Amino acid sequence: MDRLLLEDADLFRFIAHLVACKTVYAPQRKGADSYVFAPVDDPQAVVLDYPRTLHSIKKYFLPPREELLSFNLRSNAFAAAEVEPVNAIFLGVHSYDLHAVLKLDHNFSQGNAERNYLTRRQGAIFIGVSYRPDRFHFGGSVGIPVADTTGCDLFLHRLDRGHVVEIVSDTGRELLRGLDLPAFTGELPRTADFEQHIYLPQGKLTEVFARGYQSGIWEEVAEKCVGCGTCNLVCPTCYCFNVEDEVDVSLEGGSRQRHWDGCMLREFSQVAGGEVFRNNLAARQRHRVYRKFKYISDQTGEPWCVGCGRCTAYCTAGISIVNIVNRLVQEHDWANAAKL
Ligand code: SF4
Ligand code: SF4
Repeated sequence: MDRLLLEDADLFRFIAHLVACKTVYAPQRKGADSYVFAPVDDPQAVVLDYPRTLHSIKKYFLPPREELLSFNLRSNAFAAAEVEPVNAIFLGVHSYDLHAVLKLDHNFSQGNAERNYLTRRQGAIFIGVSYRPDRFHFGGSVGIPVADTTGCDLFLHRLDRGHVVEIVSDTGRELLRGLDLPAFTGELPRTADFEQHIYLPQGKLTEVFARGYQSGIWEEVAEKCVGCGTCNLVCPTCYCFNVEDEVDVSLEGGSRQRHWDGCMLREFSQVAGGEVFRNNLAARQRHRVYRKFKYISDQTGEPWCVGCGRCTAYCTAGISIVNIVNRLVQEHDWANAAKL
């Protein structure tokens, strides 16, 4: 049987069972209205019905700040930092965040495979959970339904008083050993519809973005944008970083540090000599959105946005990425597009 019934009365027993197997990270409340993925000490602190977490689980594979190596200037030697596999269970992951991890897997495997990210990714077990789309989610427009089980080992479909546990992989099946949950033989619950939609699928957006570079929308959005970079820093598919060497006070050694960076920040495109090649906010907005719907998408055929809605929900200026894309669609000159 690949579907089991997890009644609410059994939920804490289920979580305690997971905690006994491995480290578990799950959504937990932070403050009045926010949620974060954090290590589970108390099963009762886990919240499976949440809109979105502030940051995605990306932070466990690509930490906001990490040491890449340490160096000694006297001996002219260096040592790469030790990196361990995460080797943990991620409980209560929404489908869009799991797709984001799979996209990062792609990014960090291309060309020179990125050792630290790929090492940390080892041993991760994912338990997905369905969610109720709010006014910011738009996973349906980027091919990621609410109950998409791609990448999961187990998936929890929410019921009125519990969850259906869908077994997706052998790892997931093994995880349930000893729990003794009853089989579920009914229909899977219907998930709620998305309120937000991008008007066209990626196949058509390719044409739109091929012509959208000179659109007036970029200046228009830039007038509201304050360049805070929040949209980059909360995005589960953004992976840009900066690397800096820090010399300690003895001036004998130091470390090479990597930290998250973002294309909406002015310094991101500053190069040696002080030149900033995307100095205005319109150019930075365009670059951000083209990274999600054109540059990588032209190579993969997929949008590189997973529809989590974070960049809109947390934007200081209320700028919506869905509105930007839909404005480009509306402006697009379909009659002359064929002449491209
Ligand atoms: S979060 Fe909003 S205001 Fe801040 S850089 Fe992004 S689009 Fe601009
Ligand atoms: S671009 Fe915005 S909606 Fe898309 S994945 Fe990033 S944060 Fe989520």
